[in-house]
Amino acid sequence: MAKKLFYGGTVINSAGQKKEDILIEDGRILEVGSCLKKDGAELIDVSGKYLFPGFIDSHTHMDLEVSDAVTADGFESGTRAELSGGTTCILDFATQNRGETLAYALQHWHKKADGKAHCDYAFHLALSDWNDAVSKELEEVVAGGIHSFKLYTIYDGMVVDDRCIYEILSRLKELGGIAGIHCENKGIVDARLAEVLRKKGSRQDVSDYPGTRPALAEAEAVSRILKIAACVGTPVIIVHLSSKEAYQEIRQARAQGQTVFVETCPQYLLMDESRYSLPPNEARKYMIAPPLRPKADQAVLWNALSKGEIQTVATDHCSFTQLQKDMGRQDFAKTPCGMPGAEERPALLYHFGVTKGRITLEQMCSYLSEAPAMLYGLYPQKGALAPGSDADIVVWNPNTQWTLSAATQQSASDYCPLENLTLTGRAEQVYLRGSLSAQNGKIIQPLSGKYITTQKGSY
Ligand code: MN
Repeated sequence: MAKKLFYGGTVINSAGQKKEDILIEDGRILEVGSCLKKDGAELIDVSGKYLFPGFIDSHTHMDLEVSDAVTADGFESGTRAELSGGTTCILDFATQNRGETLAYALQHWHKKADGKAHCDYAFHLALSDWNDAVSKELEEVVAGGIHSFKLYTIYDGMVVDDRCIYEILSRLKELGGIAGIHCENKGIVDARLAEVLRKKGSRQDVSDYPGTRPALAEAEAVSRILKIAACVGTPVIIVHLSSKEAYQEIRQARAQGQTVFVETCPQYLLMDESRYSLPPNEARKYMIAPPLRPKADQAVLWNALSKGEIQTVATDHCSFTQLQKDMGRQDFAKTPCGMPGAEERPALLYHFGVTKGRITLEQMCSYLSEAPAMLYGLYPQKGALAPGSDADIVVWNPNTQWTLSAATQQSASDYCPLENLTLTGRAEQVYLRGSLSAQNGKIIQPLSGKYITTQKGSY
């Protein structure tokens, strides 16, 4: 592949920004610096644009079965949405169903993904079954290039108990792996669901939904997980942090010297629980877990981001159609939980974070690219604009205005949670390993995504 020289732009990384050129060849970055020699390269004028390392979405659910429904987006439409918005690599949750070997689970996920992805993809592995055979098999899984795992403290098919969590974290510590944990107290949620039914005779009123998954249920599980991790002596990742109560538990643990990594998602930064008081068919669109919280919690999360106390902003992209959401018409507990958000994540963080002065461009680069690359062992192949790194380059136009809409979005979901919202700033061109792959929200080079293995993360 011929050389390409990006000139005139501002290169962003977590430590700073600088007007520099980037020279690439054969899908890799050759050189970053001032006034680089043309050297026969194709010249790409990026004056007035920001250059970011391709964004990484470290929390996606493509082609996943949830509550008797399969997500609207499989790897094809899901990664189309991701790439069109500037994300060049996702980490999807390959999932071990009970009774499956880890090898089977991974094979199953490769079948879903291979040949269908528009951007690169790596896997975390969600564990639902814990025994000696699985413990033994983990060694091969890690040796095969998977270093991050997911555990659930809730959901009948996925929940692992405290002893399992302790043993899994211990085993991962031995092997050089890390776990991200979905934290909600199952007992509280189950009891609250039964309580609504007992008091009201049905669960049709979606405004009762957030009360069935209170912030204290999240905080309790976060606290418990952090104490188990402290007993093991290993860092953990708290995924999709949604509430100030749970954040308080993290602050306390950190004050004791514990290493805790935290992810949040745009939906918790930008939407609040008043959405559940919309008419039920509208309200179900916003049913996610943990649920949207009171508006005051958004300020707490933004403040944590501005201080660098949250490390990554991922989507938890888990998309359904309105028809699928209607499965909860008679009982909101039967609604498949999740929302789309792959395409707009970078622009939301730019518009509501950077242009509003809540975070810097450097922090945006860190939360969307560099930090997930480091934490999940993709760095420096991904997450860096540096010699030797993959030439995954986002050319960001800070001035483009565009409007979110189900009519134009790439996701296969038929609604957009922030319909009709106009944003400033967009991934104008997205280069995947040196090839122009998306432009102004449209895929130019389809199905070029490849599977990426991970190393032990830095933590
Ligand atoms: Mn999730």
